[in-house]
Amino acid sequence: MIKLPHRLEQAPWLTTPWHEWLQRRQLGRLGHALLLQGPDGCGKEILSEQILTALLCDSGDGCGFCRHCQLLKAGHHPDRIDIGPDGNQIKIEAIRALISRLEGTAHQGGARVVVIDQAEKLNGAAANALLKTLEEPMDGVYLLLLCSAPERLLPTITSRCQRLVVAMPTLTQTNEFIGEASLKLGNWPYWQALLGGPLAMKAAIDSDNIATITQWRKWWRASLKSGLVEPQLAAVDSESAALVLKVLYYELLFIGRSRPQWLAEHYSAIQQVIEKISWLERQSGINLVAVFQQLITAIRQKAQ
Ligand SMILES: [Zn+2]
Repeated sequence: MIKLPHRLEQAPWLTTPWHEWLQRRQLGRLGHALLLQGPDGCGKEILSEQILTALLCDSGDGCGFCRHCQLLKAGHHPDRIDIGPDGNQIKIEAIRALISRLEGTAHQGGARVVVIDQAEKLNGAAANALLKTLEEPMDGVYLLLLCSAPERLLPTITSRCQRLVVAMPTLTQTNEFIGEASLKLGNWPYWQALLGGPLAMKAAIDSDNIATITQWRKWWRASLKSGLVEPQLAAVDSESAALVLKVLYYELLFIGRSRPQWLAEHYSAIQQVIEKISWLERQSGINLVAVFQQLITAIRQKAQ
């Protein structure tokens, strides 16, 4: 449970979109569906928590004292509905359960707020089922769709949502948020490109994922050298698979950073890596050895 405005003070770059949302509300221009878009790790979750609290709270600002705020704090407000991916997809079952829940009335007699996290992971069937809810707005129901890759959403979904954009914070804001731990990162533009904004970078530092990723990087180098995928790379869980491949992508850019000719020769192999990243972000249960080996082979064939 995120308390604000305290949280906004920690992530001051969210103040701009927050004020934009408040202004829309003051002007009576809030749509029933909001697409909250921005890179991973930039605090979309913090902002959506603030918006959700403002929509449910009796005084409209997250007073902290009304019964809605109390229920939110306790972590079980009955008119807050959270949906997110199961594995790497938001499946139709989750949307069907949502629709049947919305057919009832609000437990607390106020608004109902649905938060759909990582909306880009809605699979085709789920997205089509959600479309009907977006087309026929219900009184007092608000949908907040959090999304870091809006281009992956159906245009029929995005066209029915208002947008609110969270931008990547500045270098100063990022360093202030991460604090002293940012010193541990070293080449932080690399980490920002790979992981996303300050929240993602801080989480990676706190959970020691930096060391894990550094190890992946070494294994990719070894694989590129030998032509055979290091088995440890393919042993990761399917939720980390796309990130593992992203590490390869940035490794290739690193190798080609001062070799435009090399980059040109490997353009199509690098494109294949990008396509597989996007594909793996939405798939589970894939034979990663085969996928990774195919890419390593494609990259090495180009080198000959
Ligand atoms: Zn309140």
